Amino acid sequence: MDALLGWYDEERRELPWRVAPGKRANPYRVWLSEIMLQQTTVKAVIPFYLRFLARWPTVKALAAAPLDDVLAAWAGLGYYSRARNLHKCAITVAEDYGGKFPSTVGELQKLPGIGPYTAAAIAAIAFGASATPVDGNVERVVARLFAVRQPLPNAKTELKRLAATLTPEHRAGDFAQAMMDLGAGICTPRRPSCLVCPVQSDCAAAAHGIAEALPMRLERAERPQRVGYAFVALSEDGRVLLRRRPEAGLLGGMLEVPGSEWGDLLPPLNETLRTAPVRADWWAVPGTVVHVFTHFRLEVIVYRALVPADATLTFWADPDRCQWVARRDLHAAAVPSVMRKIIAHALTEN
Ligand code: SF4
Repeated sequence: MDALLGWYDEERRELPWRVAPGKRANPYRVWLSEIMLQQTTVKAVIPFYLRFLARWPTVKALAAAPLDDVLAAWAGLGYYSRARNLHKCAITVAEDYGGKFPSTVGELQKLPGIGPYTAAAIAAIAFGASATPVDGNVERVVARLFAVRQPLPNAKTELKRLAATLTPEHRAGDFAQAMMDLGAGICTPRRPSCLVCPVQSDCAAAAHGIAEALPMRLERAERPQRVGYAFVALSEDGRVLLRRRPEAGLLGGMLEVPGSEWGDLLPPLNETLRTAPVRADWWAVPGTVVHVFTHFRLEVIVYRALVPADATLTFWADPDRCQWVARRDLHAAAVPSVMRKIIAHALTEN
């Protein structure tokens, strides 16, 4: 795999969290980038990463930030449990480790939000440990290099084992990043560029002409659908009624537009209107809002009402968890993307 490291020296992607080949990167920056990159593209992550780093340049600074500020800065990256764990992890590192990340895979994995992949990435890239981070990109490259025909997800353990056999004792961090770059730019899911690939001479799939067919996968079940109602209450003085979600679960601790539960079937409309957060003249906004989560697709019917600035909230609103947020302050509030879509949908029908 020397050819891969040689290729990385010349052709690697310049990314703001990276350092020159052969050097060890700052653990805080590697960790921050890796958490942001989980299920998000590099292109989407870069502006968030730069903003976070400018605002919280060290793990101690991030640990000292209010959770709400971190969640608000995260809005747009999705998967808010990651942001909550990011903050929890920063506090643990600041308080229990004196602001220094531990250097081994085992210790790193004990920290909130750090799984096997991220632990291996930090250990290799920031500490030079001979660890092998294996994500979907690396699985694909390894499945092709060794022409593994066993389908995913069953092949995961074997692909991990094979990936570890490739990892060198020295420059393991560069090797890990080279594999990431190879998967992102050359050994792509469709139409891999085998002709310009630095490891083509070692690749069994290329030799057999089956690169594009790998990795094989078991058929995936279709994503389930859920439906629900949302009530966007606008006060006469330009504020929107929002409610804090419970700490545990999906979008935990974020602000939401009050509404029905999300289920397989819509609850009857008259029953739903009875549970509106404010007694008002509710009006159905034409169309629906669709949002795709990892495990389900959500379709929301949006109701809107203009209410007095001192409107009384109903029992159904759960008033203790509600707050009125000025429309001009919404961009900085901890409001997840799905709720932003719902509010925008309600406001387009002015
Ligand atoms: Fe992927 Fe082709 Fe390179 Fe093999 S030769 S690793 S299939 S790009």
